Amino acid sequence: MDYSYDEDLDELCPVCGDKVSGYHYGLLTCESCKGFFKRTVQNNKHYTCTESQSCKIDKTQRKRCPFCRFQKCLTVGMRLEGARRAGLHP
Ligand SMILES: [Zn+2]
Ligand SMILES: [Zn+2]
Repeated sequence: MDYSYDEDLDELCPVCGDKVSGYHYGLLTCESCKGFFKRTVQNNKHYTCTESQSCKIDKTQRKRCPFCRFQKCLTVGMRLEGARRAGLHP
């Protein structure tokens, strides 16, 4: 099978606004957020927000607050169980 996703990949990551690299954990996200989400889940990381848990997450500031970034990942619909279904999306 040949996946021609070029046009779909013009979309932007719902978490940080970077260019998406494909479907990760249930939706289109960028490579960076995919890796971040994976590390967070696999290492069972717990973050703390030093602000009011409402930090703005974008391409340039996404590393500043992992807590808010992870919250945003969940808010936009990234799912933990998606990790086990890699490759099964239509
Ligand atoms: Zn992203
Ligand atoms: Zn924060």
